[in-house]
Amino acid sequence: MNKFLTLLQSPTPLLADGAMGTLLHAHGVEHTHCFDELNLTEPAKVADVHRQYIEAGAQIILTNTFGANRYKLHKHGLDDQTAEINRAGVEVARRVVEESGKPVLVAGDVGPLGVRIVPYGRVQLHEAREAFAEQIRALAGVDLLVIETMTDVYETVEAIAAAKTALPETPIVATMTFTRDDRTLLGDDPAKVAHALAEAGADVIGVNCSGGPAQLIRILREMRRAVPTSRFWIKPNAGWPEHVGGRVMYAAAPEYFRDYALEFWKAGANVMGGCCGTTPEHIAAMRKTLDSASMVTVEPVGMVTVQAAQNEPTEAPSQLAQKLAAGKFVFAVEMDPPRGLATQKLVAAASLLKEAGADVIDVADSPMARMRMSAWAVCDVIQRQVEIETTLHFPTRGRNLLRVQGDLLAAHALGIRNVFVVMGDPTSIGDYPEAADNYDLVPSGLIKLIKQGFNLGLDHSGTSIGQPTAFFAGSALNLCPPDPESEIKNLKRKLKAGADFFLTQPIYDPKKAKAFLDTFAEANGAPLNKPVLVGVLPLVSVRHANFLQNEVPGIVIPEETMERIHKAGEMASLEGVKIAIELIQQVKEWGQGVYIMPQFHRYDLVAEIIETVKS
Ligand SMILES: [Zn+2]
Repeated sequence: MNKFLTLLQSPTPLLADGAMGTLLHAHGVEHTHCFDELNLTEPAKVADVHRQYIEAGAQIILTNTFGANRYKLHKHGLDDQTAEINRAGVEVARRVVEESGKPVLVAGDVGPLGVRIVPYGRVQLHEAREAFAEQIRALAGVDLLVIETMTDVYETVEAIAAAKTALPETPIVATMTFTRDDRTLLGDDPAKVAHALAEAGADVIGVNCSGGPAQLIRILREMRRAVPTSRFWIKPNAGWPEHVGGRVMYAAAPEYFRDYALEFWKAGANVMGGCCGTTPEHIAAMRKTLDSASMVTVEPVGMVTVQAAQNEPTEAPSQLAQKLAAGKFVFAVEMDPPRGLATQKLVAAASLLKEAGADVIDVADSPMARMRMSAWAVCDVIQRQVEIETTLHFPTRGRNLLRVQGDLLAAHALGIRNVFVVMGDPTSIGDYPEAADNYDLVPSGLIKLIKQGFNLGLDHSGTSIGQPTAFFAGSALNLCPPDPESEIKNLKRKLKAGADFFLTQPIYDPKKAKAFLDTFAEANGAPLNKPVLVGVLPLVSVRHANFLQNEVPGIVIPEETMERIHKAGEMASLEGVKIAIELIQQVKEWGQGVYIMPQFHRYDLVAEIIETVKS
């Protein structure tokens, strides 16, 4: 029987090696260089990495042939040396094993082709299979084949088929990489992947690369639940890569892998190791755990129910949600989308606000029912170009159920997670008073659809949308309502629908605003337990203050504040900044943040306010 298949029967999981690329890079090889070519040009460097992993206690080392297929080598002009590079990779590994005198297995490493195959690309299935077969034939002499870091199930199935014909006696490990939402790049879940790989004939299936140990153990459990009879391989990265000062850094320390080795074992892993960012220290730490552990009981398949796994959003909450949960006082600033195509000024202003310390940019949707660029596109521009999180204002008015749901899917696909649900301004007050003004949902209905539908993976009709969304849903609140009783009723309805946070109308009298929350607490029998971001609208001039006081329903400016603006005369905008700062200082005592609405595009004044309050 094959050595690998025999060893797989031992009760203790096998230990494979860690990253090759990470170490070669540390040896001074540039990321743009063809790592696989080193098997021919600098075999000593490759040998040194193998040697370090064997010394750390790895029982399986992977050849330095991850990218040694004709498509990837073609990019370096080396495709005519495909066979030589693979053969040299096996020779280097074999030589190091012999020198070590240890019974270490050599695995032929096979990575993705680096081209999209049909139906998402032009490369045909038979061409993919031929390319894999060409590489795998040249890997003859290895103890096992590892097809890893695959993103496309169809491509992986072709690789397995190629292995079965090219080296029929050699056991096959096939593992795929997953994105943050526990799906492959093409959207397949762990159960589907597990079935496909096992049915294609892989002896061992599993997961590698992706994120850190915490994510991969979750995927491993789901694969095992799907195909309990298979054998499992797990090789996580040292966490998600982060860009720090132009370098890619991995966070997870060797000790973290030491602790997780036991968890992998319990979760049913038959082979474990490390992927990107892991080093011989990580492998040595896992070795220690495997050597010292006694009486490990592998958990029964399906300890985590499928139901729970499918209904819980697996991705982390939005930054806004995390900051609010951590009790941080949050600064949100509203911006209006442009009336035309130009987004440069918007991006410049968002950068200024980010530098000043704003936590999130709120993007209004056609404020005052005036024609503007759709807000979700503006959120996307800001998130991508300024790298600050946004909150999408989402009016129900003017959208039927098709549009509402389609736009929610679009926003989520663009990476927008915070949504502020509003009724929206009636078109009659805007620049297209004749425009249709219908709606299928009121705000509390939309919150319910988001929180009790989309966030559980279901649309309005109860049909699956494939996976749950991870929206953080906000709703409007008036802290100085003309009719407190009806506002309290509204608030209760929004809470019942599942509202996560509230943005309020602008206030100028914090005592009065706080008094409303106290009234609510009394009527409700408990204080409002969701974060409130209090509306702050800096006054700019006497005329501006007069307009708000007299023409905007729901805004009440105290006599004293009006006087201060009057007295300031020419300096009214600076006095407005002062008033806003004082207001925020008072709100800090009971609110969870502020939601600042710049007037007349005076983003500079808002930056000043945030900087002063924060200093
Ligand atoms: Zn990796």
